[in-house]
Amino acid sequence: MARIVQARGGVHALDEAHWRAMTEEPATNAPPQDRLGRRLHDLRISVTDRCNFRCTYCMPREVYGRDYAFLPRAEILTFEEIARLARIFVGLGVRKLRLTGGEPLVRRDLPDLVAELARIDGVEDIALTTNAALLRAQAPALRQAGLRRVTVSLDSLDDAVFGVMNGVNFPVSRVLDGIAVAQEQGLRPVKVNMVVKRGVNESSVLPMAVYAREHGLTLRLIEFMDVGQTNGWRLEDVVPAADLVQTIAREFPLEPIPPAYPGEVASRWRYVDGGGEVGIIASVSQPFCGACTRARLSAKGELFTCLFAASGVDLRALLRGGATDEELEAAIAGRWRERGDRYSELRSAETRGLRRVEMFAIGG
Ligand code: SAM
Ligand code: SF4
Ligand code: SF4
Repeated sequence: MARIVQARGGVHALDEAHWRAMTEEPATNAPPQDRLGRRLHDLRISVTDRCNFRCTYCMPREVYGRDYAFLPRAEILTFEEIARLARIFVGLGVRKLRLTGGEPLVRRDLPDLVAELARIDGVEDIALTTNAALLRAQAPALRQAGLRRVTVSLDSLDDAVFGVMNGVNFPVSRVLDGIAVAQEQGLRPVKVNMVVKRGVNESSVLPMAVYAREHGLTLRLIEFMDVGQTNGWRLEDVVPAADLVQTIAREFPLEPIPPAYPGEVASRWRYVDGGGEVGIIASVSQPFCGACTRARLSAKGELFTCLFAASGVDLRALLRGGATDEELEAAIAGRWRERGDRYSELRSAETRGLRRVEMFAIGG
């Protein structure tokens, strides 16, 4: 039976279901909202803290040398544990999963994890961020397991510049080969992440844009961020988003376009001549904390609600201590509800002094 209600804008007839939705308390399992009204939507899963590169802005080789103690295997979440947590996150509103690290492709049998995650009802997208060194060998199995898309990190097309930035002299050609194989396997659209550091790879921005246009890739230019404690970040080394846009637009005119979905962190620009688009991730010069709907699960099972946090909630202790799904769900939802993170918006001399987790530990 329809109910007649008077509301702003006039008198409406509502069916029973609509009436109940308006008048009942929200279900207790409604997706949690944090203190700033942000809903949980994405989960980044770091599958390892190890990496075959030593990028200067992430794991500088002087700090992460031969003697550095990475996590022992027993401390890293198993695939079963990750899949169990992912299922609970999906129950709390997560729709997108991204595998990252460290370098996710150094984790053995990664396609088995992808296959488990792909079986979770409600997952709309599974993506991977990788340096592509091992992509040729693994792309077919990953695709078959249910991976949808990859983002490949590449900071220059110039071997000398890229070699310095990746810290191990890894050649550009092998990353380009990884990108090509991802495209052949249908892991599209391939996005390419380029971190820009002043005085190091600024001159690579335009050649990278040309390459991306010619190969149907979406280039995403990322401002060098002050993540972690070891990358020697200085504000002077950041090339602001506006300059990055100008560098490309002088050659290929660009126009802004709206975000593809609410909470997208990259601002999008389209080539006026139809040559595709560029994304700019301006976490320093134009922070986007207001739209931050991401949770991060570290390789050892801590839940982080901000890239710049000092510590996370130890979900591994709960998992291995015999917690039920309901208890895990309550711990995750509780943390999300109390979250008020907006580090990038507050960035200042004061916040610079705070202890922060390293990016390779929780995934970018
Ligand atoms: N190893 C994989 C890779 O490099 O693609 C995945 C992990 S990596 C931590 C994820 C992303 O974070 C990469 O695109 C990397 O360039 C970016 N990143 C790492 N340190 C950064 C920093 N200090 N500022 C901005 N982006 C950074
Ligand atoms: Fe490794 Fe990625 Fe960090 Fe580079 S950015 S050191 S590839 S985890
Ligand atoms: Fe999200 Fe923290 Fe980054 Fe702000 S600084 S966008 S809250 S991860």
